[in-house]
Amino acid sequence: MLNLLIFGAPGSGKGTQSKFLARHYGIEHISTGDLLREEVAKDSEMGHEIEALISRGNLVPDELILRILFDHINGIKDYKGLILDGFPRTIVQAEELVKEFDKKGWKIPLLVVLEVPEEELMERLLERSKVSGRTDDNRETISNRFHIYRNQSEPIISYFKEYGYPLVSINGEGSIEEITQKLIQGIDKNSK
Ligand code: AMP
Repeated sequence: MLNLLIFGAPGSGKGTQSKFLARHYGIEHISTGDLLREEVAKDSEMGHEIEALISRGNLVPDELILRILFDHINGIKDYKGLILDGFPRTIVQAEELVKEFDKKGWKIPLLVVLEVPEEELMERLLERSKVSGRTDDNRETISNRFHIYRNQSEPIISYFKEYGYPLVSINGEGSIEEITQKLIQGIDKNSK
């Protein structure tokens, strides 16, 4: 049973690579951004609040994302492992994830860090904005998302190191296929 967390700054390729990895390993791909966008599409009051946060590049509260994600995970039938894309994004989320997986008797997931320089990320996201239709793919919001990543999400790497949880870093530059191959090698080596 393989559990992965695909981790990296906005635009590092988490969504694209997760889809390939989910297919390769036969595991479930769960994107918390997608779960939130589904909630927004429902046009509910909660959806409007979520959209206001997402469109400014801010994180939704830990409590809310934890409830949405764990409800989703608990609803999975025939569990074979999963890849979480976009979660955890704060230390609190990482701590709750560890607690929840411990409670279920599941292995602590491997944190797979995709490393890409910020100038390249900005270029990729501005390029993506032409087709993504995402309200958060504009220069100002992207800058805020980078800021939040550095301040709130990146410390999760040190947290994993400090507690000796499994972690692998992959250079996320190059063609999509090359990166997929590097990811598979890194994951196979670190998930035994
Ligand atoms: P993503 O699709 O992963 O780029 O996420 C898009 C946006 O959804 C983020 O910029 C946040 O506003 C929100 N979001 C996604 N995942 C989380 C999370 N784990 N915690 C808080 N907010 C999140």
